[in-house]
Amino acid sequence: MKTLFKTFFEKIISRLRFVKSLRFRIFLIIIVVGYVPTLIMRYGILQNYENRAVSLRTAEVETQAKILANHLAVNNYLQNTNSDTINAELLQLSTLYDGRVLVMDQNFVAVKDTYGISEGKTIISEEVIKCFKGKSSSNYDSNNHYIEITTPITLTTEVGGEVSVGQVAETENQTIGVMLISVSTDNINTNIQVLDEKAQTLQLLMMLLVIGLSWVASRVLMKPFDKVTSAIGEVRDGFESEISDVPDYEETEHIIVAFNEVLKRMKILDESRQEFVSNVSHELKTPLTSMKVLADSLNAQDNVPIELYQEFMLDIADEIDRESKIINDLLSLVKMDKTSADLNVEAVDINKMIESILKRLKPIADQKDIDLIFESVRDVTAEIDEVKLTLAISNLVENGIKYNREHGYVKVRLDADHQFFTIQVEDNGIGIPEESIEHIFERFYRVDKSHSKKIGGTGLGLAITRNAILMHRGAIKVDSEPDNGTTFSVKIPLTYALK
Ligand code: ADP
Repeated sequence: MKTLFKTFFEKIISRLRFVKSLRFRIFLIIIVVGYVPTLIMRYGILQNYENRAVSLRTAEVETQAKILANHLAVNNYLQNTNSDTINAELLQLSTLYDGRVLVMDQNFVAVKDTYGISEGKTIISEEVIKCFKGKSSSNYDSNNHYIEITTPITLTTEVGGEVSVGQVAETENQTIGVMLISVSTDNINTNIQVLDEKAQTLQLLMMLLVIGLSWVASRVLMKPFDKVTSAIGEVRDGFESEISDVPDYEETEHIIVAFNEVLKRMKILDESRQEFVSNVSHELKTPLTSMKVLADSLNAQDNVPIELYQEFMLDIADEIDRESKIINDLLSLVKMDKTSADLNVEAVDINKMIESILKRLKPIADQKDIDLIFESVRDVTAEIDEVKLTLAISNLVENGIKYNREHGYVKVRLDADHQFFTIQVEDNGIGIPEESIEHIFERFYRVDKSHSKKIGGTGLGLAITRNAILMHRGAIKVDSEPDNGTTFSVKIPLTYALK
């Protein structure tokens, strides 16, 4: 049961994955962008229509009400509501606009109600009070669909004494009553409903159109990306061919350019890996071939003297030593190829470290009567991986001894500023030809293969050294003059900073 649920949910989630796709998002955006304006337009137009229709209706009724109020005042209707003509006019107004007219006197008593139910009753409302102060008003109640209008009934009387010819009489306006008219807006609302229905149909049509368009657009817009994916898919199996058919967009062009760049780097890496493997196999095979030749030649002869056996066996032992040195160097190189995170960093007394390196190498130097000199400008303590840096500096000193003449020297100089410490390993040996300088840090590179082999070189020492120094975020450079000597300069930060 549980697994059934799980697979069911997994299925749903895998179905919903399309929500994450750019295609779906483009589709959705176009729908929203296409649909929202139609929605705004629909409500905007309807609202506008309603406002305009209501204000027209209000103005119309207000004009009629003003004329009627004038009639009421002139005919003294508030005192005598029996005037048939005025009653007919009031009735006409209320039927015309499907509404009700209330006429009130100064005491807020309804003297006339076209509905005939509130006559004689006192009606006090905010609007009526305001109207008595001379402020007519109109209010639209959109929920109950009516407009309420108040109009003052004003009597104009002349003030002052006799008025001579050519003089304008002074008049005074007195509000003697109020007309309260409410008219229905049902027909406006019916119009709005009809309009809304039409708008909805149009909106639905537009929605269908927008969905169709966005579906097509999302497919068309995504095509270049599909092209990129399939082009990358074709390249995946081999790094041989780059993608040259650049698709339509600048963005996809950038992807292709970046991809080709990665491809190029992978190609270089692959080539260097292949070269490395073939170099390693070659280097490992050489001692084995020598051993095989030595053993075969012994086996091919009868009655071999014991001295020859011993001589050949010594040679075979030398080859075994060489083989194991190559393997050891390869292992060190692999260790140094890792990232800086593998460093075992601690504060190390560099002076002591160099002294112990020189002490260890002294017996080898003595064989050629080579002087090992240590010049320390100051005491240096730095955050380093002691094992790895010892190996790196040992290699440099060993090279200084190996590629030197009898009675030569190897000088190690240590100095530091506030940021870096520097170690210089200088010898007065055979030097390095100019054209070889750029290659000496390559794996298995040796300037003079036969000489290097004779003195036990594998061509891996400097590659190991360089990697160890780079792991410490340091730098190494070399100055050399053939026949005069070589100086390696190493510069490493005093404190190790994690990136
Ligand atoms: P190897 O194991 O052959 O010494 P390295 O990587 O240590 O390999 O050095 C590469 C080559 O650089 C050496 O074979 C040698 O020809 C040259 N080289 C290195 N150090 C020195 C030096 N101090 N003086 C002269 N040549 C050197």
